Amino acid sequence: MRDNDLSLKHNLLFSLGAKTYMAQLYFYYSAMNAGKSTALLQSAYNYEERGMRSEIFTAALDHRFGEGKVTSRIGLAKPAHLFAPESNLFEHIQQLNDDAPLNAIFIDEAQFLSKEQVMQLIHVVDDLNIPVLAYGLRTDFLGETFAGSHYLLAWADKLTELKTVCHCGRKANFVVRLDEHGHAIKHGAQVEIGGNDRYESMCRKHFKSLVWGHLPI
Ligand SMILES: [Zn+2]
Repeated sequence: MRDNDLSLKHNLLFSLGAKTYMAQLYFYYSAMNAGKSTALLQSAYNYEERGMRSEIFTAALDHRFGEGKVTSRIGLAKPAHLFAPESNLFEHIQQLNDDAPLNAIFIDEAQFLSKEQVMQLIHVVDDLNIPVLAYGLRTDFLGETFAGSHYLLAWADKLTELKTVCHCGRKANFVVRLDEHGHAIKHGAQVEIGGNDRYESMCRKHFKSLVWGHLPI
């Protein structure tokens, strides 16, 4: 009887805890090469180490490291589900959670989420009570927010900037797209797939001088 009482007490506390525990939507944003994927993989590893179940998603259009995995520049890698513009993330995550309860969802390349997909993640957090940790770029090569970053910046519970530096030593919060001659590109599609362009993170002052130019006063 005593064991049963203890077990009941434990279950009661657990259910009370579950009721008061509110999952949150986290957005970790930065310019390029600030270690977003490394931070994601480290955090996913922390969950795994504690015996907690998480799943990772990344954008289907990013083929830099092959399909279905997140790879960091320092060599860590983990398999990942891919999301395309038409993917319903709520349905996919709900299905995974039905198979076995999830403790966290990680989203890499979160800037490529649509407004609807950010809303789906909000339902995952609020209705399934699963924390979502999204990692992505804040702005594109013209200094504009991506759809995913726009709505994550607007709607996430917690915003955290992952910092990197410009060649001048200031904090770099902009991304410059450079052509094969090293010149800044000022026009073009937000997402360039398979091109030879490269990207460099810079501070606003250097981004401004290369991309926006001097504003007429
Ligand atoms: Zn600079």
